[in-house]
Amino acid sequence: MRDRVPAAIVTVGTELVRGLRLDTNTAEVASALWITGYDVAETVSVPDSVDAIARTMSRLVDTYPLVVVTGGLGPTHDDVTREAAARALSRPMEREPSLEKALLTRGPGHTDPQARAQMLRQAELVSGARPIAPSVGTAPGQVIATGTSTLVLLPGPPAEMRPMVREFLGSGHHAAHVRTLRCLGITETDAQLAAQAVLGNSPGIGLTVLATPALVDVVLFDEGADDPALDEAATRIAAALGTACYSTDGSTLAETVLAHARSTGDRLATAESCTGGMVASALTDVPGASDVFAGGVVAYSNDVKTSLLGVPPSTLAAHGAVSEETALAMATGALGLGATCAVATTGVAGPTGGSPDKPVGLVWIATASRHSQGTAREYRFPGDRTGVRARATAHALDALRRALLVP
Ligand code: ATP
Ligand code: MG
Repeated sequence: MRDRVPAAIVTVGTELVRGLRLDTNTAEVASALWITGYDVAETVSVPDSVDAIARTMSRLVDTYPLVVVTGGLGPTHDDVTREAAARALSRPMEREPSLEKALLTRGPGHTDPQARAQMLRQAELVSGARPIAPSVGTAPGQVIATGTSTLVLLPGPPAEMRPMVREFLGSGHHAAHVRTLRCLGITETDAQLAAQAVLGNSPGIGLTVLATPALVDVVLFDEGADDPALDEAATRIAAALGTACYSTDGSTLAETVLAHARSTGDRLATAESCTGGMVASALTDVPGASDVFAGGVVAYSNDVKTSLLGVPPSTLAAHGAVSEETALAMATGALGLGATCAVATTGVAGPTGGSPDKPVGLVWIATASRHSQGTAREYRFPGDRTGVRARATAHALDALRRALLVP
């Protein structure tokens, strides 16, 4: 097994430790490091305090060969990561003329002397640091060799940080090999057992299963195996997972649905009640969706189900809005948007509105298509309103995918 290099991540921001903002940088940097062959052994968040940041940095650079820090590189008074790094490493700070020039030509043209002086703090490098030029924003990153460790300082805004992670990781390290099999409609445990049954005692292939409320990712990674061995294992596991596995190349569910529709020459439409447009939103998140996605109707009230989708009032009266019959009529109605394959959702997302025979979490999802008879399926989703809607959205996309699989 290839030895992974231990690393640590520090995110700086009072807003993070007070719970005012979600720390997404740790997850992004951690996965980038892991894929590049590091083993992230510790992640820490600290407030915007020179003391707290410097203390944490001192400890971590003594422990890990790589320490990545995000946040606090901007121009304002609370951006003190540079000062903390200088203190932790007992090095002076130096004003870098080329950075100063770039800030003066590309940065915001401050006329106020104090604002200008603050902006130019971003040209301060810890002595011996290599700057990483910003491709977004104004704050440069810094890579500092400490002798036993490499300390990397990156800006906090994710869009500024992201290109710099790529820059310093570059190709300098062995890329770990990973295959991700994305699934839906299978439990985490069943996916794990299916994958393990195929892998047997395959030496050199690691397995982890990552689940969100609706989706399950089976991740294979090399622990010594080569690319062909990983590919072969991925193919065999995908076959064992069957139609639950919707992608083996990292594509999302929405991307997979759109790709299927493109290959079958279908045009898609949505009719959404309890998901309120989330299915259409997921599809239109994908660039280029317009070539196969015609559009959708958010039909929340019975009136709109009837007026825009043609659901017969008698169907609504006899079976209710959350029913197989209504879901099917909604999907059929959505075909009228100029589609050849449509999906409909109607359910009780909660927390109110449930009844003994139609409890919170009950969702009907139907598809209608030129390929086959309309089909509808009943789901009982656990969780709160957010969870029910997220699961309904994923299963609606999956219903489209399965409808398109029918020859
Ligand atoms: P700026 O020049 O924008 O001040 P900076 O390097 O000083 O950059 P911060 O001031 O620490 O960065 O953070 C700026 C913004 O970046 C925060 O308001 C937040 O929106 C985002 N941000 C910072 N750290 C994180 C993080 N760990 N996860 C997600 N977003 C973050
Ligand atoms: Mg800042």
